[in-house]
Amino acid sequence: MGKTSKDKRDIYYRLAKEEGWRARSAFKLLQIDEKFHILKDVTRAVDLCAAPGSWTQVLSKRLYENRTNNEEVKIIAVDLQAMAPLPGVTQLQGDITKLSTAQAIIDHFGGESQKAQLVICDGAPDVTGLHDIDEYIQSQLLLAALSITTHVLMTGGNFVAKIFRGKDTNLLYSQLRIFFEKVSIAKPASSRNSSIEAFVVCQNYRCPDGYIPQMINPMIDDVQMIVNATDSSVNQKLIPFVVCGDLRGFDSDMSYSLNVSTAMKYNNGNFKKKYLYIYMFFKLNEDSEYTYKEVVQKPISPAYKEILEKLK
Ligand code: SAM
Repeated sequence: MGKTSKDKRDIYYRLAKEEGWRARSAFKLLQIDEKFHILKDVTRAVDLCAAPGSWTQVLSKRLYENRTNNEEVKIIAVDLQAMAPLPGVTQLQGDITKLSTAQAIIDHFGGESQKAQLVICDGAPDVTGLHDIDEYIQSQLLLAALSITTHVLMTGGNFVAKIFRGKDTNLLYSQLRIFFEKVSIAKPASSRNSSIEAFVVCQNYRCPDGYIPQMINPMIDDVQMIVNATDSSVNQKLIPFVVCGDLRGFDSDMSYSLNVSTAMKYNNGNFKKKYLYIYMFFKLNEDSEYTYKEVVQKPISPAYKEILEKLK
């Protein structure tokens, strides 16, 4: 690709260079702010997944703007990758899904009056191109970002995070609504139409009664840990999924030969014997004739009855 071809294709890429932003993403945050005013009066903010740092630049520019006391401003930027320094910004290098990184961020914000007013997260994993997997990994980043947010965001604060729009967007919306009074999904003009990327803009944080902020990921952490850690119902994230029956028996999604006998007898939960029965019937009935049996009770008024009448 020639040096100027991306400049020609992408106006925001070109503009970013002209205006001194490290990445074109800066415009996404600026456009979100234009609509939702999330940067207004903010002095303490966290930028998760910040490298190369264009969102942090926006924070730095806007939070220090017109301020006489720079001491009030606190900006923490976190990323897996090293990031070139920015004046007035504390940088942490680490994985936001790791407890140690979360703890390092939390340590910067003590006491309700010192908590962040804004948490932003533009995190994105390396895209695989497999939509379901990309959406899943993105949701793990969002979950980690939300967990950190519940520790560091002050009541009334705002949270903005990148999502990949997919079939679970409505569920995500409902989950975020537990923590925020207002949740919107924003698509800034600078975000390509061809991209499934969008941003959740969550306003007015209100920790649900009885919720204990925690850094437990229900998808990867020990289930027992979660059950023990729950002191209240709002913390409970997992509903037990219990598989019943002998997994070595018939598989309900499989097709079996008509010669396989279904006359298998259950032996009051005695696994070994039951297994033996199935095995025996597979063997014994291999060459037997199949005899059709009527269903025990036909439906009294099936949905197809009317159609059958008409066809007569
Ligand atoms: N907002 C940034 C800007 O304006 O310059 C761009 C962010 S870039 C799209 C996504 C970033 O997410 C990458 O720098 C990547 O290293 C970071 N990232 C992905 N997974 C991460 C994780 N688990 N922990 C921390 N950072 C992560």
